[in-house]
Amino acid sequence: MAYGLLPEPGTDLGPCLPDCAHVDCKQTREQAESVCRHCGEAIGYDRPFVHDNSPFDPLDAPATFAHSACHEAAFAATEADVRPANARRGAH
Ligand SMILES: [Zn+2]
Ligand SMILES: [Zn+2]
Repeated sequence: MAYGLLPEPGTDLGPCLPDCAHVDCKQTREQAESVCRHCGEAIGYDRPFVHDNSPFDPLDAPATFAHSACHEAAFAATEADVRPANARRGAH
């Protein structure tokens, strides 16, 4: 799981405007167009996101992207599901 934030196109660190042939720019644009697995919206630019592709076999394992806010919300929801069950087990 890696955290990232895509710089906006046209900024110092961002991809060129408009479409160009640079590999780095192309990768950035592809990441920005990737869909969040939680909310279904594009990852977009200047918005924190997480992705859990393996750096060792990026071709074998397609990257899955999620906004960090969506990822944390989903994680919090999972925690909330677990906690009451544990509490119930402890309290007779
Ligand atoms: Zn470029
Ligand atoms: Zn999202």
